Amino acid sequence: MNPKETFLTGLPRIGLGWDLHRLAKGRECILGGIEIPCPVGPIGHSDADVLLHALCDALLGAAGMDDLGTLFPDTESQWQGVPSTRFLEETLRLLKQQGLRPLSVDAVLRCDRPKLQPHRRAIREHLSQLLSLPVSRINLKGKTLEGSQTGPETLEAQVIVLLEERRE
Ligand SMILES: [Zn+2]
Repeated sequence: MNPKETFLTGLPRIGLGWDLHRLAKGRECILGGIEIPCPVGPIGHSDADVLLHALCDALLGAAGMDDLGTLFPDTESQWQGVPSTRFLEETLRLLKQQGLRPLSVDAVLRCDRPKLQPHRRAIREHLSQLLSLPVSRINLKGKTLEGSQTGPETLEAQVIVLLEERRE
């Protein structure tokens, strides 16, 4: 470790992630690893799970490990078409190697379609299992553009995480 970093050892770390995907008819809509019934779904890398992508970026950001696109490029065959839960598992594995684990997560999902409210609890519970954290440590808020969107229909997620460093 860089000697200048030793005074920071053991302190919590914060990370921010953001992601956006366009929506298209007939695509499955997976948010936080849960399939949501909706006539439209996000287009993009793997299953285009905007929430898990932003979450992975927040975790990697807090760990100082670049970002999702750098670690798991969609040009590499091993990452093509895999569910985004695999990216999260791999991200958590990399964090664990560094002695890092998540303490809490807060997320904002901006989606006019699908309606988030009926699925919030299920998504939080699923994230709680994936992150091995109590549901109370994971929050999810839904926002809409209140009909002001002018371009193509999109979904957008912002996630902030807190990590703790444990050196046994
Ligand atoms: Zn994405």
